[in-house]
Amino acid sequence: MSQIIMALDQGTTSSRTILFDENGKIVAVANAPLVCHYPQSGWVEQVPEEIWSSQRQTIEAALAQAKLSMKDISAVGITNQRESTIAWNRKTGDAIGPAINWQCRRTADFCEELKAEGFDRILKNRTGLVTDPYFSGTKMRWILENVPQARKLADQGNLCFGTVDSWLIWKLTGGRVHATEISNASRTLVFNIDACSWDDEILARFGIPRETLPEVHPSSGVIATVNPELFGGEAPIAGVAGDQQAALFGQACFEPGMAKNTYGTGCFMISNTGSELVFSKHGLLTTIAWQIGNEVTYALEGSVFIAGALIQWLRDGLQLFEDAAETQAMAESVSDSGGVFVVPAFVGLGAPHWDPYARGTIVGLTRDTNRNHIVRASLEAIAYQSAEVLSSIAKDTGTEVKELRIDGGAAANNFLCQFQADLLGLKVTRPQVLETTAMGAAFLAGLAVGVWKDQAQIRSLWQEEKTFTPQLSKNEAVEHMKNWNRAVERSKGWIIP
Ligand code: ADP
Repeated sequence: MSQIIMALDQGTTSSRTILFDENGKIVAVANAPLVCHYPQSGWVEQVPEEIWSSQRQTIEAALAQAKLSMKDISAVGITNQRESTIAWNRKTGDAIGPAINWQCRRTADFCEELKAEGFDRILKNRTGLVTDPYFSGTKMRWILENVPQARKLADQGNLCFGTVDSWLIWKLTGGRVHATEISNASRTLVFNIDACSWDDEILARFGIPRETLPEVHPSSGVIATVNPELFGGEAPIAGVAGDQQAALFGQACFEPGMAKNTYGTGCFMISNTGSELVFSKHGLLTTIAWQIGNEVTYALEGSVFIAGALIQWLRDGLQLFEDAAETQAMAESVSDSGGVFVVPAFVGLGAPHWDPYARGTIVGLTRDTNRNHIVRASLEAIAYQSAEVLSSIAKDTGTEVKELRIDGGAAANNFLCQFQADLLGLKVTRPQVLETTAMGAAFLAGLAVGVWKDQAQIRSLWQEEKTFTPQLSKNEAVEHMKNWNRAVERSKGWIIP
């Protein structure tokens, strides 16, 4: 019988468990929804016990689907929503408050304080991150200052902090192991990504005792075994990575210059920079992609706030169509966008513009403009924004991105993929298995226990479904980008602060 690898994919809106065989084929999939709570404006929370129970439910369901038990699993991999932060009592094993979600803005004031004193420069140099409520460190500080018993537990040595990977490892081991993995640690704002250890000076500024933090493990390697009382077997937990890093691995982007872009609600782009730590001059994040053995691989990461969400708005807000899948034919029904540009700066602009005062704009309208032009210009906008982030990555690294591998819901749109290839002058490749995040976790875990012998073997499992090769000349692409930039200029600074 083929060896089976279990990937736990714990996301913001759902928990999933996927079983893969040793050929990288999906054997079973189980999903359970997960809710967010919004107790105040800008605050986002989840219930730690629900994160675990939803994950646990999908583990049981996936095993049942495949008629297997945990004894049949060669290795368990974990990939997870990053930065979300949980605190629990080491003695009882229970969470002491809500999981503070990555989207939560409750620590904005402390971030402003850090910036005002210039501490943001230290944070950027040591952690590769910008000083923003997004990341875990300021959330831990908030818990210490605001959750009853947190400080007391910390003083007694009984407080555990963790990101979602840590929480799942804690639960899977029946509270025996307080551990995390390095790509997750690199999103906490308290982890030195050069020294690869928690940073004492940052911890002191944040008031976080080092003993509250988990032990940091490589991305591939046995961390612990699953408590046999839970699922009737003892599989090793052998691979862990944050969701975007796992997707980069699942896309087999193993060489420097290989990048992946996920086209979902927003776009998440991440590019392998190899053993080199590259600090961005364009507002991108430097992060750890993974560690295998002693070898640490770094990455640059950038995101586009509004991508598939623009298509949702065309559907629900403007009611131009009923199903996002219709947009491909609508875009292809016209020969070009008729000079129309849609800049979806609904929540301001991110990298490389960073203008919170920008707002959405449609320019270039004429009497001839119809809905197909607007749809086409909107799909093009997703590609333009991604091209800007990729060009920032190229500027920061001083080398061109070699190949872009794509996934996410909107990557199903062939028009979008082709236009992306045209703009970038790059091969854009869509894989057969679109579950790249779970696949990455499975690959990391299987690699650790010898299901696959090396990365070369994993590379051979990754298979393309379709490749889009550029059809436009470089000059035409440059001309398109110039016009896009003219449109972006018109969206900037619209809100008067
Ligand atoms: P997320 O994980 O962020 O929820 P998904 O990866 O599931 O997102 O992708 C869903 C997004 O992709 C939605 O915003 C939707 O509008 C968009 N989308 C889905 N199918 C298409 C399509 N064929 N063409 C363009 N956009 C699409």
